[in-house]
Amino acid sequence: MAAFALNEADAGSDVANLQSTAQAVENGYLLNGEKVWITNAQIADVYLYFAKTNPSAGASGISAFLLPSKSAGITDGQYADKFGVFSSNTGWIRLENVFVPSENRLGWEGEGFKIAMSALDMARFVVAAGSIGLMKACLAQAVAYAKQRIAFGKPIAETQLIQQLLAGMQQRIDLGETYVRQVGWLKNRGERATRESSAAKWYCTEAAWQTANDAMQVLGAAGYRDQYDIARHLRNARAATIYQGTSQIHQLIQASYLLGQRQPTRLRCELPPIQLD
Ligand SMILES: Cc1cc2nc3c(=O)[nH]c(=O)nc-3n(C[C@H](O)[C@H](O)[C@H](O)COP(=O)(O)OP(=O)(O)OC[C@H]3O[C@@H](n4cnc5c(N)ncnc54)[C@H](O)[C@@H]3O)c2cc1C
Repeated sequence: MAAFALNEADAGSDVANLQSTAQAVENGYLLNGEKVWITNAQIADVYLYFAKTNPSAGASGISAFLLPSKSAGITDGQYADKFGVFSSNTGWIRLENVFVPSENRLGWEGEGFKIAMSALDMARFVVAAGSIGLMKACLAQAVAYAKQRIAFGKPIAETQLIQQLLAGMQQRIDLGETYVRQVGWLKNRGERATRESSAAKWYCTEAAWQTANDAMQVLGAAGYRDQYDIARHLRNARAATIYQGTSQIHQLIQASYLLGQRQPTRLRCELPPIQLD
């Protein structure tokens, strides 16, 4: 069981500002710092822990370490007052002079930021795909409920305003699936797909939040209890617009490609030329 330990109190969106340090000592490093909002904080066997080997070098001073969670000097705790994602352990990790051997450094010193970003490329794709599942569950529940709930003498499914909500949910699922399949296709080709993963994550998580919200509207008060799964989906969908980069950060990423600050995914052309008759 692993955890991705990047986020800190003053380094959420602004990851390069992380304050954890890794000081080189004989045969390894001494790690100090605190991570917050870490999924699996208390149940992980190993943390992928990001700390600065060169604190004055910004993002290029960050290095990555595979840190066994039972190492001496680590304390942890979990948040008991989260809004959602109750099935997941989320908490903090504090490191005080924790020794990690040199061979546990992942990559070279200074490569941590690049490693973190490549992990996020995959995680964003996974979060986007998960959002599709959440939307499908919401739509199935909303359709079933709308067919059997009678108001004004007929099933609410027969009213056009409810049909509009259902159709909108289906549209978001279809668009989201297109995004996810596009990223999957690029990944299968071995392409990096940073922009596309970010776009998919941004769209699918916002779509899931909107879809869970609409599903709750279809169910009315019944959806506001945990009797149906909609309330849980709504709580969980909300978290996904924050973790793995907030929706605002994904808009900044998209803009950075448009403005030429980043280079777009370059496709290797492996398709045979089209034969025209
Ligand atoms: C359930 C859950 C699980 C998590 N799991 C992990 C994990 O396993 N590992 C991990 O490392 N982290 C994890 N996180 C942390 C998550 O990655 C951060 O919460 C996220 O990156 C946002 O950071 P922040 O909360 O500090 O918000 P901040 O960075 O403080 O942002 C606050 C608000 O300001 C906006 N903002 C910030 N900068 C800008 C800007 N330049 N322009 C416009 N708007 C801006 C943000 O979009 C946001 O709306 C988890 C978070 C949650 C909620």
